[in-house]
Amino acid sequence: MIINNVPMKGLTSEEYEKAIKISWKPQLQYAWDNGIGIGKYLASLKEGMILAAYCQKCGRIMLPARAFCEMCWRPTDRYVTVKDTGVVNTYAICHINWDASRLKPDEPRHIPAVIEIDGASQGQGILHILGNVEPSNVKIGMKVKAVWKPAAERTGSITDIRFFEPY
Ligand SMILES: [Zn+2]
Repeated sequence: MIINNVPMKGLTSEEYEKAIKISWKPQLQYAWDNGIGIGKYLASLKEGMILAAYCQKCGRIMLPARAFCEMCWRPTDRYVTVKDTGVVNTYAICHINWDASRLKPDEPRHIPAVIEIDGASQGQGILHILGNVEPSNVKIGMKVKAVWKPAAERTGSITDIRFFEPY
């Protein structure tokens, strides 16, 4: 190759790799701050309750609990406990695992769903999974109830609820 009348010698693969690659062993440490609203929400899950936030300006009971109403652009006024029951707002039947590998024909399907929780305002729900139900029996509007981990196993995570099942 000739550039500006100067013959250019191509790089060998080793030279090319040396020029563009660096090796670096990262030592990354993460700390995640849940914030006030989500922190209270997660703490309530550890206690076997679902916490929402109330905004007195718009009257919404928002889920998950949050410290700020994004509609009114103001802090929420108080936290309220909602039920651990609700209805399926939408769902999917997954034939693949979380890592995108295919499920075998005899493996149970994953059924992620948005569940509108009783006691929260319409449209306020959480994303979770459905269990103890055949995929063909899942319907939008189906009533479901949380199946909690035993108290001693809860960690303050959304997985403190194992899944939601029909009731
Ligand atoms: Zn509001």
